[in-house]
Amino acid sequence: MNIARVIVDVPSQNTNRLFDYGIPEKFVNIVQPGMRVIVPFGPRKILGYVISLTDHSEFDKLKNIEDVLDITPTLTPELLQIGKWLSKQTLSFYVSCLQVMLPQVLKAKYRKELWRLTDEVLPEELTNIFAGRDIVNYQEFVNSELSYQQLRKYIDEGWVDVHYEVKSRETKKTTTMITPLLEPIELEEALIDLPKQATKQRTILEYFIEKQDPLPKKQLLSILNTSASSLKPLIKQGNIREYKLETMRDPYAHRDFERTLPFPLTEEQQVAIVPILHRLEEEKHEVFLLHGVTGSGKTEIYLQSIQRVLDKDQEAIMLVPEIALTPQMVERFKGRFGSKVAVLHSGLSAGEKYDEWRKIQRKEVQVVVGARSAIFAPFTNIGIIIIDEEHESSYKQEDRTRYHARDVAIERAKIHECPVVLGSATPALETYARAAKGNYQMLTLKKRMNNATMPSTELIDMRDELHQGNRSMFSRVLLDKLKDRINKGEQSVLFLNRRGYATFVMCRDCGHVKECPHCDIALTYHRIQERLKCHYCSYEEPMPNECPECESKTIRYFGTGTQKVEEALQELIPEARIIRMDVDTTSRKGAHERLLNDFGNKKADVLLGTQMIAKGLDFGNVTLVGVLAADALLNLPDFRASEKTFQLITQVSGRAGRQKLAGEVIIQTYTPDHYSIQLASEYNFEQFFKEEMNLRKAFNYPPYFFLTLFTISHPNQLKVQEVTQKIVYFMRKKLSEEADILGPTPSALTRINNRYRYQCMVKYKDEPEQRKLIQRILHYYEDEMKEENGLQITVDFQPYQLM
Ligand code: ADP
Ligand code: ZN
Ligand code: ZN
Repeated sequence: MNIARVIVDVPSQNTNRLFDYGIPEKFVNIVQPGMRVIVPFGPRKILGYVISLTDHSEFDKLKNIEDVLDITPTLTPELLQIGKWLSKQTLSFYVSCLQVMLPQVLKAKYRKELWRLTDEVLPEELTNIFAGRDIVNYQEFVNSELSYQQLRKYIDEGWVDVHYEVKSRETKKTTTMITPLLEPIELEEALIDLPKQATKQRTILEYFIEKQDPLPKKQLLSILNTSASSLKPLIKQGNIREYKLETMRDPYAHRDFERTLPFPLTEEQQVAIVPILHRLEEEKHEVFLLHGVTGSGKTEIYLQSIQRVLDKDQEAIMLVPEIALTPQMVERFKGRFGSKVAVLHSGLSAGEKYDEWRKIQRKEVQVVVGARSAIFAPFTNIGIIIIDEEHESSYKQEDRTRYHARDVAIERAKIHECPVVLGSATPALETYARAAKGNYQMLTLKKRMNNATMPSTELIDMRDELHQGNRSMFSRVLLDKLKDRINKGEQSVLFLNRRGYATFVMCRDCGHVKECPHCDIALTYHRIQERLKCHYCSYEEPMPNECPECESKTIRYFGTGTQKVEEALQELIPEARIIRMDVDTTSRKGAHERLLNDFGNKKADVLLGTQMIAKGLDFGNVTLVGVLAADALLNLPDFRASEKTFQLITQVSGRAGRQKLAGEVIIQTYTPDHYSIQLASEYNFEQFFKEEMNLRKAFNYPPYFFLTLFTISHPNQLKVQEVTQKIVYFMRKKLSEEADILGPTPSALTRINNRYRYQCMVKYKDEPEQRKLIQRILHYYEDEMKEENGLQITVDFQPYQLM
């Protein structure tokens, strides 16, 4: 096997195939499928991924592999296979599909190092390279006598490891440390030399005469109750030294998680878990839908299923939506499985993510809890894949490789012959329909834990409030109940739907709305910087003093952001202690966790927030949930608007009355008669499913039909129309009679960043030729799509964002 078949990192139609390269002597037995290599390509040297090895090539003169980037493969054979499948499914380039599976670090610029992993005496060749150091530049190995084959052996035996040090701008977390430079006795001399009035400096020296260990500067200053200025002269005189220490990258390493034991399952849980455990034993693939109301103990079922998988020495992938990756959720998994758990979420730095990923790759952990991309965890012996809140749209990637984590999960589970558990209180219609038909096995939890009842709900018609003279954003009922909770020492959660409630700027005289000059969308007012920003491009401008149209001074911001709600509430109930959670208050690292802890420790009466508080929170003292604008989502141009509304109301309501105390939900709406709001307030998923299915059927939407969405964009509007028109004609001509081809239609966001956007939607049941046809279209426009700022055609199978 001296030939490697390689996918090169040039995403284009022409290069979307395997290229053969010779394997030079020094890399024999080193190069393996799944490794990243450097290969000559035309005049350049570029990155490539080895897909397979072979003895024969149809070409005679092969160029050789220039260098190998990994000593152990980054992608497993199974992931290579998944990559190929993904590229067919999404019509993305194979190389893009491989890259989507890897942590960012491996795509960024980094420095490679060799790390010593043990204190034992190293084998001689290694001793020569390390020469007493713990970390050496990888290049020192390359320049040494040691062969790749030998290095690999030492890595396998655990002496050393290759480490990637990211050179990104992302700052590593460091702590400033202070350490004494002199022996205690010398410090005492220095102390004598200090002027009597330099009391602060004296305390510092006295401290280090007592204790010689370095400690964080902050800590030192707080212990001694002094400021940084007293350190300076001591540093200058060389008594002490200041230096930076890289803080541990394991984000949870410093935390002890209280170990939890499995609960004895309730009868309902028992009935639900048996079929899952059964499949685990048989090592057979099957998809389960665990449909359980909020607080019914789904997570406990996940935990105990995973336990069984670990007992069999297998591995588990646990997906949760990004916003549900709260410390509370992580705690439950860390609490049960301790250091066997890796956590992957967007709050981690690239380096931290890479470290977690490495733990998976090195088999130091058996469980990964993570958001969407954790579905690509490089485990090799997967025993179960679980997706919590499976209906969440964040499982769908919306750019480049437009995959859905649920599809990848099922595909991987087929290969590993293991079960998939999809859990939700409000499953996606597609999923529920499949379970109803028997394609998935349905498991149901109807009761909440601890005999808790679902909270009682009340719909408040905000139009009535207005007619009766209440112009505030709080109904009288909600206000009364909030006050009542504060009096009783109970807590409330207020939910504001962000997306429907952006704060835009409007002139009260002429009605002029400030829009982005590049996108057809109102600018959003940002209070702190007093600026208007576009959420689709990076455009921003200062808040104007007068209306650009009529020069009136009455230009104001409208709509309600969380901040405005907070102010209004504070005015109405001055004694309320409010914690606000939104993008602004949680952008700092750890802020999310701190705010939730404060709320959990009853440092506030009201938790006010956006989508990010809708999920996963489990606080026993919360007895009231208020939904401020239930229908904000209903008016979006999206066939899933009702479904999303139903899901959101159900999720938010689920935050109340989870333990001993009963809960109550107040839903404020302008459309109290809408079926999704009505049925959500009654927790009637089955009826909602029926009604919504009827509509989907009537309008040819999923799950009755599949959708393919083309979005075509270009700076020139005529050009976009023309291309879209052509695509529509072509698809109409080639697809069967049964397919429904809509378009050209301007997208709901017609212009973004000075580019016009049109779309074509295909609704179909079975079109086996469809992908080939689309490939032909993409091929036809390939040259135009290469031009900078030229034509763009994106194709989304299973679109979630229709705008
Ligand atoms: P879900 O995931 O369906 O929202 P959870 O798993 O969070 O529900 O369960 C709700 C609460 O009930 C949690 O506090 C959990 O610890 C507790 N719980 C779950 N299963 C049991 C059980 N069998 N016995 C006692 N308490 C349980
Ligand atoms: Zn005006
Ligand atoms: Zn814009």
